[in-house]
Amino acid sequence: MSSDVPGTMGVIFRGIGVSPGVAAGPVALLQNSDTPRISERTINEAAVAGEIARFEEALIETRRQIRQIQEALSGQTRAQDASILDAHLMVLDDRTFLEEVIGGVRDKLRNIELAVQEGTSRYAGVLEAVEDDYLRERVSDVRDVGRRLLRNLTGTPADTVSELAAGHLIVAHDLAPSETASLPKDRILGFATDIGSPTSHTAVMARALELPAVVGLHDISCRVKTGDQVLIDGNKGVFILNPTDEQLKTYGKQEETRRSIEAGLDKLQHKPAVTKDGHAIMLSANAEGPEDIDAVLHHGACGIGLLRSEFIHLARSRLLSEEEQDSIYDRIAARLAPSPVIIRTLDLGGDKFFADVRGSLEANPFLGLRSIRLSLQHPDYFKQQLRAILRASVHGNVKIMYPMISSKGEILEANRLLEEAKCELDAAGTPFNRNIEVGIMIEVPAAALSADSLARHVDFFSIGTNDLIQYTIAVDRGNERVAYLYEPTHPSVLRMIQMTVAAAHANGIWVGLCGEMAADPLMTGLLLGLGIDELSVTPRAVPLVKDAVRGLNFYQAVRLAESALQCETADEVLEKCRRLTRETAPEIMALIE
Ligand code: PEP
Ligand code: MG
Repeated sequence: MSSDVPGTMGVIFRGIGVSPGVAAGPVALLQNSDTPRISERTINEAAVAGEIARFEEALIETRRQIRQIQEALSGQTRAQDASILDAHLMVLDDRTFLEEVIGGVRDKLRNIELAVQEGTSRYAGVLEAVEDDYLRERVSDVRDVGRRLLRNLTGTPADTVSELAAGHLIVAHDLAPSETASLPKDRILGFATDIGSPTSHTAVMARALELPAVVGLHDISCRVKTGDQVLIDGNKGVFILNPTDEQLKTYGKQEETRRSIEAGLDKLQHKPAVTKDGHAIMLSANAEGPEDIDAVLHHGACGIGLLRSEFIHLARSRLLSEEEQDSIYDRIAARLAPSPVIIRTLDLGGDKFFADVRGSLEANPFLGLRSIRLSLQHPDYFKQQLRAILRASVHGNVKIMYPMISSKGEILEANRLLEEAKCELDAAGTPFNRNIEVGIMIEVPAAALSADSLARHVDFFSIGTNDLIQYTIAVDRGNERVAYLYEPTHPSVLRMIQMTVAAAHANGIWVGLCGEMAADPLMTGLLLGLGIDELSVTPRAVPLVKDAVRGLNFYQAVRLAESALQCETADEVLEKCRRLTRETAPEIMALIE
């Protein structure tokens, strides 16, 4: 990394570009975006008046702060941003909200912090469930105001995202997936973090949000302050402090070129993903929630190959009820019908926690109680999700997928609970698709190595290379310090994929790949040649991968895979992939080189 000389122009820092695009503007330095930790108490009747008085003081202080920010920002921001702060002020006067909170103190004898937390959550939940776009948009205002009230009640310093994010680039030490999921996409230009890697969940989210992002910038959050002018290039991993006019011009031009190539590729929207010699694959998209559906359809995916259902909960900072989940899955299934929607059951744990949990108590959370393991330990909640998915299956082409399976026993147990969920729906007279397909993710070496046995119990596989690579090479997918070891073309990874495909096909089931590797057009020939039937990628990468498929002959892909399997290093394989892509899709090389 270059060293910074204070006050100088155009100082360049290099990190890892994880989401393409160039953005320039002022920094919003995010120092503490956590929801404050609160104490949860019940109180006696005598303490009620005191708690309500504290609430009134917090309301006054919160109003004062919001007005102060409005004044500070006046003249600098767009009208839209001012109206967001107006909406926050309106929440503070909203009778229903105030009564929710005061009722928590007076009727349930909660301390005021707990009453604000619960009242905010309940009121936001009610708004979310309403079939009215305007009211649903108020949910984030209610949550922002709830957080601010809690900060004032607990004396926690303010975060900057909700205040300064409009028209700003967020710089942070790190962003948790729950934070990234709740970023106001339409209000920020992009983000840059000290830590992270291309397959960290935050990077995955940045691509889904189509926001330029650079991670792994070491100590960038200590080198800049709110208001500094910066430029980031999410393709090359460049971060420039105080960019010169010349740099702004050069990067601006590059961005124009990239956009015009991407716009050209969007013309492939209605074309099939088929090689020149007629080998077709399914090209689906990954999605994190209903807000991604427009992008999935716009970019011409033929379905959702991976709906990361946990983000639906993380974005709302709580676990949703069966009804709430059902209404979201229904909407997604109906909009995509008759194209498939593969709903992955909750994949919480690892680095995916709710903001107020913030981290795991386990020493090795990625090897711990995450994903399907967590679901199987909470069978009642797991069944709620399964029932919600089953209910949605009458509205479209819905499939179920279990994440992080490492043994046959887990599939059998999950399927047993699925049967129970079906019986419960039957008993209630609720319709569902009895023949719903059930698949598993292959993202643990144990699953790849025993794929022949697992294939007998499911309808499809989807290889999750993000985790499969981390577990195969023993390299933390989110750690920029070992990012150089995280090699999708490592010979061991290719063998895992080959083994999984062979086992799937021998058992007559199809196999997809939904890790980030699928979205890299350099990998397209290799994955087709290895026999993958479906690729599921971030929506924006659909046209790129489609173009790569359409430039190939299938025999070239097979030859590439055969020779790649003979290679001894990841670099050798990568070079072969580059060579073929240069020949078959030179326009793509202009975007990625
Ligand atoms: C994967 O591991 O490849 C995957 C797609 O799942 P996630 O990135 O959500 O862990
Ligand atoms: Mg995974």
